[in-house]
Amino acid sequence: ERKHKVTVVGSGNWGSTISKIVAENTRANNTIFEEDVQMWVYEEEVTIPKDSKFYDETVGDKPQKLTSIINKYHENVKYLPGITLPSNVIANPSLRDAVKDSTILVFNLPHQFINNACKEIRGHILPYARGISCVKGVNVSDEGISLFSEWIGDGLGIYCGALSGANIATEIANEKWSETTIAYDPPPMDNSRAPTPRSSSPNISITSLAEAGHRDARGRASKTKLTPVPAEYPPLDHDCFRVLFHRPYFHVQMVSDVAGVSLGGALKNIVALAAGFVDGRGWGDNAKAAIMRIGLMEMVKFGKEFFGETVQTATFTESSAGVADLITSCSGGRNFRCARKAVEKGMTVQEVEHEDLNGQMLQGTSTAYEVNSFLKKRGLESNYPLFTAVNGILRGERTVDEIPSLV
Ligand code: NAD
Ligand code: 13P
Repeated sequence: ERKHKVTVVGSGNWGSTISKIVAENTRANNTIFEEDVQMWVYEEEVTIPKDSKFYDETVGDKPQKLTSIINKYHENVKYLPGITLPSNVIANPSLRDAVKDSTILVFNLPHQFINNACKEIRGHILPYARGISCVKGVNVSDEGISLFSEWIGDGLGIYCGALSGANIATEIANEKWSETTIAYDPPPMDNSRAPTPRSSSPNISITSLAEAGHRDARGRASKTKLTPVPAEYPPLDHDCFRVLFHRPYFHVQMVSDVAGVSLGGALKNIVALAAGFVDGRGWGDNAKAAIMRIGLMEMVKFGKEFFGETVQTATFTESSAGVADLITSCSGGRNFRCARKAVEKGMTVQEVEHEDLNGQMLQGTSTAYEVNSFLKKRGLESNYPLFTAVNGILRGERTVDEIPSLV
């Protein structure tokens, strides 16, 4: 039997953490997976900070390539400092080389960069590769709104699922326990030879595509022509992805609702900004809870209105990718923290992002603009008052004090 080769496309705060998880599992399951995990790094010159244990007096502040630092010291000193990566994480500055011959592609980039990454690798991946998108955001174009799992899958001619949950990266990198949700609804050609998927939650049903007929994340007949995974590989099914991502400190729940999982991760970032705004005004926990309640309702409404064929309300209200991610993001996420500081200091959210995040990127600001442009085009802004208020505040057209009268 051949083994699956895994590439993580991205190496930020979450990209590096997911690479650590995956590499621990490929090492522990080396009859199924090749041990080495390729991690594509957007190359940049980095100065090792003086307080890092890798600071070398002889090199001083001379910038070095981030890939060389990661491969030498097994630490991403810029985006995940203080965490040792397994030595089988191989940092690669060439995206095409990193994805070459991989059967499993894990996309983990800020959503702004997915378009270019996909363009770069189109035609340079195995035709039977399968993807998992860890990206939290939505893609809005003139044609409408699409999920990154759809965008990646259709763009590359492969099937792509989604991983999302209450997953603040540094907590997981420090091996503090959390849960995540992986949505994978494999094409029948993969499913037919795989065991029936199991759900660890009786409340979230899993429909196998073999039973339901081949459909995409919105329940439409899929246009993407897929190449079957050759039989000499272990089946790429729910069990395989659970083995690849589950750790004692990172519990995986497998579901089939790709749209619900993707939308949960994208839309909660808008709500987290609102939670930061009201916290920054000093309004306390009741106001924050109100924001979360209203935000969750708008998330469910949005999912039902635009992805109603497949989205399950339970994904928002019961899974880690829904309510749990909303809670953690409104407690300690970057969008929340930057929005809170922006209000406290009278700065814009973007100014705080540049000042505080050392190159890490917020997803909530662009998602708020993108979702608003989608709603505005359809005359539906007033049906989503919280999403609309966040967009107005970011643009300086509304104030935080107006929130109670707007929602
Ligand atoms: P990050 O915020 O740390 O982003 C910085 C990354 O962007 C770096 O790897 C940097 O090299 C890369 N980059 C900068 N310019 C680039 C360019 N021009 N082209 C390509 N890459 C470039 O990234 P992250 O936290 O790993 O986030 C990736 C995704 O994971 C996002 O959608 C985010 O919402 C999601 N996510 C993040 C967390 C978290 O706690 N950090 C948790 C769950 C999900
Ligand atoms: P932030 O990007 O706001 O830090 O959110 C992280 C996250 O997605 C936690 O699940």
